[in-house]
Amino acid sequence: MKSLATHTHSFKNGFNSVANNSTLSGLRPASLTYLDTGVLNSQRNKKKSRSDTFKARQKTKRHLAQLASKINEPELSEKLLRCHSRVGFLSCGRHIHQVIPNYVCEFKLCPDCARRKSRKRVNKYLPAMTAFVRQNRVTPVHLVLTQTHNRETRKQSVKRLKSAFDNLVRRDFWKRHFKGGTWSLEFTKGKDGLHHTHLHIIGFRNRFFDISLLRAEWLSVTGDSLNLHLKPVTELSKGLLEVFKYVSKPLDTDRFTAEDLRDFLKLRNLHLFGSFGEFRAFRSDYVVADDDKVSLPDYSRYGDLGVGSVCPSDNCGRLLAEKRRSAAGFVKYVKKIEDCAPS
Ligand SMILES: [Zn+2]
Ligand SMILES: [Zn+2]
Repeated sequence: MKSLATHTHSFKNGFNSVANNSTLSGLRPASLTYLDTGVLNSQRNKKKSRSDTFKARQKTKRHLAQLASKINEPELSEKLLRCHSRVGFLSCGRHIHQVIPNYVCEFKLCPDCARRKSRKRVNKYLPAMTAFVRQNRVTPVHLVLTQTHNRETRKQSVKRLKSAFDNLVRRDFWKRHFKGGTWSLEFTKGKDGLHHTHLHIIGFRNRFFDISLLRAEWLSVTGDSLNLHLKPVTELSKGLLEVFKYVSKPLDTDRFTAEDLRDFLKLRNLHLFGSFGEFRAFRSDYVVADDDKVSLPDYSRYGDLGVGSVCPSDNCGRLLAEKRRSAAGFVKYVKKIEDCAPS
């Protein structure tokens, strides 16, 4: 379980090192690509640097804030612009640790908040998942369920997919082969302008089956779709992170119109994530603290690291100093580190 400990540690520190090509960065080695499907083309093979990623998130937020004021949601617009507009962090000049924002808006479409939330979720779920896999001798798989694309609202699309899934997990076939798991929703918008909704599942498979049998079950509950993809998750922590990554960008928000945002706000109470089957009960017994709220930022708290601590990245050994930057200033700072890093 050595790798698990390492991953958990890096989540705790926000992100470990800008120069270090960790699994939390936007860069992903080909071997970690889970799905060879057209479904996920939009999110694959984007080799963005971290500074570019931060910049892109800020752009997305500005875009959303503009849309929000257009549809007369000034409060939401103001929150989005304030969120992560300043950050405090520790740096040795070559690595960055413990990035703490001035404010978090907690809006589901905010790329910064969705990312924070997904990281917290991984921290919360990973220990229970690992224990569940070990105790039940099950194999984790990543399953993506999709449906035909109809002319319908976002809400109708989600309802249709969720109810098909609810029916699927009640089937004998499903119960015989899966001992529960987690699900999360991913939304995209097709070039045809239709809402595409996908369900990402980390399922705990307790016996092998022929994929065509599962397809037949899916066809039977949807009435018209054979479309699903299944891949084993070889390393639980990485596989889980991959799936959560999709959730952390649940919508193609850069292409959002004011109408799309209005449509999304109608889903206010929609859960984008959940667990099912035996794992559900297991998890709630396993995890003691159940506070999923993003904790309020506090510049004075830096976890184990503090001003003057030795930088823990790559045997760096330099001392950490506290920095504060605006969002744009932070991008510049990260870019400077990237430009200095040996490639
Ligand atoms: Zn360092
Ligand atoms: Zn936010």
